[in-house]
Amino acid sequence: MVLPSDRPAVSETTNPQDCIFCRIVAGEIPADIVERSDHCVAFRDLNPQALVHVLVIPRRHIENAATVVADDAEVMADMIVTARRVAENDGVADSGYRLVFNVGEDATNSVPHLHLHVIGGRPMSWPPG
Ligand code: AMP
Repeated sequence: MVLPSDRPAVSETTNPQDCIFCRIVAGEIPADIVERSDHCVAFRDLNPQALVHVLVIPRRHIENAATVVADDAEVMADMIVTARRVAENDGVADSGYRLVFNVGEDATNSVPHLHLHVIGGRPMSWPPG
């Protein structure tokens, strides 16, 4: 396993009390939640980029994909399994869907709580813009 065992330092560590996605997990901010699992919550993106656009997030605050460590393996597997359930329930498992982690400025990462975009329901191009 090549993952680092120590979580790398991040430039801006968000206090979970200030984190909008932690507050969705806590039920303090409303969201259109479509799936829950032991480690994750999935809810519809406020600004959908396709017919299906759901965010799968870990209940525990993890900053982004660049700060994931080997100890997060169970959470990461749960995120992908939850994404598959979202795709099945939203009817895009057969037509196809895209799973995206944005990291950093060039990738337009805007919310500093790990989230897996599940995007489907239309044909997509590659590479992304
Ligand atoms: P990213 O650019 O990867 O950081 O994506 C963040 C995503 O979170 C964007 O697609 C936003 O539309 C979405 N978003 C931000 N706030 C909320 C919210 N309160 N509920 C649902 N989606 C949100």
